[in-house]
Amino acid sequence: MRTEKLYYEDYFLKECEATVIAVGKQGVVCDQTVAFPEGGGQEGDRGFLIINENEKIAFTDTQKGVGDVFLEQDFPTINVNTPIYHCVAEEALEKFEVGMKIKVCIDIERRARLTVSHTAIHLVLMAIEKIRGEKDIIRYVKGAAIKEEDARLDFFFREKLNDEQLDKINEYVNQIIADDCKIELYPHAKQKEAVYWKCLDYICACGGTHLPSTKYVGAVSVIKKSKGKNLQRITVKFPNVQLPLDLYHETMSLS
Ligand SMILES: [Zn+2]
Repeated sequence: MRTEKLYYEDYFLKECEATVIAVGKQGVVCDQTVAFPEGGGQEGDRGFLIINENEKIAFTDTQKGVGDVFLEQDFPTINVNTPIYHCVAEEALEKFEVGMKIKVCIDIERRARLTVSHTAIHLVLMAIEKIRGEKDIIRYVKGAAIKEEDARLDFFFREKLNDEQLDKINEYVNQIIADDCKIELYPHAKQKEAVYWKCLDYICACGGTHLPSTKYVGAVSVIKKSKGKNLQRITVKFPNVQLPLDLYHETMSLS
């Protein structure tokens, strides 16, 4: 069982028609969807499934199921060709049946916040690499939480970031945002669900949603907090963000 993931064709699609292919405790699975599942620290989408023309059933989370393992030396191991579960209340499950035509609509305000949040934390990663003069800083990450209000990474560092370095990180990230640098997402040559993220000369594997360029993030503040001897939590906040809701559209843009 697999769901066609329309977000890989267009990350700003806010709705789609779909056919139900499975209904179970984990949720409703369709042949295709625009809803982005939880993964890589980013929380799952929420929204509505529309049945019988106009009956709206809320889904409160989106989860990825089990599929094929994509195993390559130049990419982190991920699951591909998976089903996507739209998580609805248990009592709403009986309203769905296999073969039913429905519409999937995501909460674009939440998606836009999660997208800003994910992009912001990538810029922080870029800044940490630059300031520490060290490549592949992501290998020190022990946990990630990309939420609507902020994004954070927990690092295991031999030597934690100090106040002066934190000031430089704030300066660097806000400069990249002011410069409105282009952000590109592109697939691995062997697998379209294995995606790379690129901004300036920084490239990393990424399982999230992103903005077309850095200006949308708005000014950020990066803070640090000790979580133990070698554990440091780096959080990025974007209190003045103007959500780029106009990037989202109803029909696929062919780019
Ligand atoms: Zn990412």
